[in-house]
Amino acid sequence: MAVITLRGLTKVYPGDVRALDALDLEIADGEFFALLGPSGCGKTTLLRTVAGLETATAGSVRIGETDVTRLAPGRRDVGMVFQDYALFPHMSVTDNIAYPLRIKKTGKEERHAAAAEVAAALGLDGLLARRPGELSGGQQQRVALARAMAARPRVFLLDEPLSNLDARLRLEARTFLKKLQRELGVTTVFVTHDQAEALAMADRIAVMEAGRIRQIGTPAEVFRRPANVFVASFIGSTPMNLIDARVRGGQVEAAGTPLPLPAEARGLVTDGQAVVYGVRPDYLDYSASPVDDAFSGRVAVVENLGSSSLVTLDVEGVLVHALVGEGGEPEPDERGWAVPRTERALLYSDG
Ligand code: ADP
Ligand code: MG
Repeated sequence: MAVITLRGLTKVYPGDVRALDALDLEIADGEFFALLGPSGCGKTTLLRTVAGLETATAGSVRIGETDVTRLAPGRRDVGMVFQDYALFPHMSVTDNIAYPLRIKKTGKEERHAAAAEVAAALGLDGLLARRPGELSGGQQQRVALARAMAARPRVFLLDEPLSNLDARLRLEARTFLKKLQRELGVTTVFVTHDQAEALAMADRIAVMEAGRIRQIGTPAEVFRRPANVFVASFIGSTPMNLIDARVRGGQVEAAGTPLPLPAEARGLVTDGQAVVYGVRPDYLDYSASPVDDAFSGRVAVVENLGSSSLVTLDVEGVLVHALVGEGGEPEPDERGWAVPRTERALLYSDG
C-alpha cells in the first residue's frame, strides 16, 4: 500500500498532443481515487504513465518512497485492469491470473496456488480451466481484476473497468468492487467518464479537462460546490442550471429575475459584474402558485425520473430545471414558480 505523488507530470505525444499538462496530484494511502473527465482528457494516459507503460515527457511519479518515473512497469509494483481487460485469449483463467507471477519468475505450484486463492475471493472457483472466450463479460472483468491482484501490488490502476458491462451488471460490479477495495485497503486509482460512477464509488475525485485537473474533492464537495462552470456542468445526473446573470444593487439578476446574492459571493463581486448563476435542479423548490424570489415561467417539459420529475420552466426564453418530488408534478403549459435555495446557489465569473 502506498501514497502516489505526481509532480508536474507532463506527457506530450508525437504530433504535439499535450495529453497531460504539468499535473500535480497526491493520492493517499488506501484511498479509492477516481479520475473523471470526458473522453480524450488524458485519463488513460495518466494511468499508463503511473504504470510505466508510457514515459513521462516531464515531471515525476512517486509510489510510496520510491521515485518510479524511470522504472520499468514490472518494477513499479502496480496492478492494472485495462478497459478491454486485455486477457490472453489462448490461456486458461488460471494462467491469465497467474501471469504477473510468471513474469516475476514465481514457481508454477506457488503461482497456481496464488491464482486459485484470488480466484476464490472473486467467485471464479469453477471457471479456472476455461478460456476468456468461454466467460461472460462480468466474469472476464473479474479475471482481469484477479490478474491485477495476483501479485499483491501496492497500487491498483483501473481503466474504466465497468464500461463494458451492461447497465444492471455494472451496478452490481460497482458494489462488488467498492467492497473489495475496502477489504483490501489497496490504494486504487479508478478511471471513469461516468460522473455517477465516480460519485458513488470514490473517496475523492479529480475532475479532468484537457490534461489538467479542474477540481479535486470528495463526491459531496464536487457535487455541492463545483469550483467552476466546467465541473458544474460535468457533475450531476440532471443538468445544473447555469444562467447568465448580472450583479445589481446587492442582488443578482438571472433570467430577468432578481435573486438574493449567495452569501459567499458577497464582497467578491462588484455591481454590474457579469456572472453565471449556478444552482442544481435538486436545490430549487417548486410551487404551483406565486412565491417571492422565484423563477417564474411556463412549464415546457416534465420528465419522469422515477421517484421524482425534472420540470423545465421557460423563464423569458431561459430554460430553468427543477426537481419535483412524487405527486407534485405540474402539467405542461401550466404556470410554475421555482425558488432557488440561496445557500446552495453559486456564482461563477469564469464564464
Ligand atoms: P481519455 O482516456 O481521457 O479518453 P487519453 O489519455 O486516451 O484520454 O488521450 C488523451 C489525448 O492524447 C487525446 O487527445 C488522445 O487522442 C491523445 N493520445 C492518446 N494516446 C495517444 C498516442 N499513443 N499517440 C498520440 N496521441 C495519443
Ligand atoms: Mg481512456
